[in-house]
Amino acid sequence: MRIGHGYDIHRLVTGRPLVLGGVTIPHTHGLDGHSDADALTHAVCDSLLGALALPDIGHFFPNTDARWKGVNSQVLLREVVAQLRVRGWRVGNVDVSLIAEKPKIAPHIPEMRRTLAASMEVPVDAVGIQATTNEKVGAIGREEAIAAFAVCLVERTNRE
Ligand code: MG
Repeated sequence: MRIGHGYDIHRLVTGRPLVLGGVTIPHTHGLDGHSDADALTHAVCDSLLGALALPDIGHFFPNTDARWKGVNSQVLLREVVAQLRVRGWRVGNVDVSLIAEKPKIAPHIPEMRRTLAASMEVPVDAVGIQATTNEKVGAIGREEAIAAFAVCLVERTNRE
């Protein structure tokens, strides 16, 4: 098996939906970006790509490509898992730390876990998500951005 690590941060702006872990969360602000700006899912994607020493999601899904404008990031995650599969790897487990001052994330975690697990074709108990605030410190604490860290294990399959 191999380990991977990913990180992402997106700015909070008005006039955008807030999508995290594939779940649209009611809030006054949303994350800005070319895709749906789902920082949590992007961190997971980068952890999986990193585990195989592949380039980051910006390489696979450039923000200059109109195909990825407004795209649901679960589509990107499914494509990343397909990239693993063709190389003979599958997802073992993923663990995410989400850092958001507002809104309250905890009520949405079960649906995020189910959504990510479905996209990665793993059991729900292979997807951990913890959410914390930044204790009002810095840009995240001022509600200017939301960030996520992810680690994963990937395992060799027999398909190669
Ligand atoms: Mg991103």
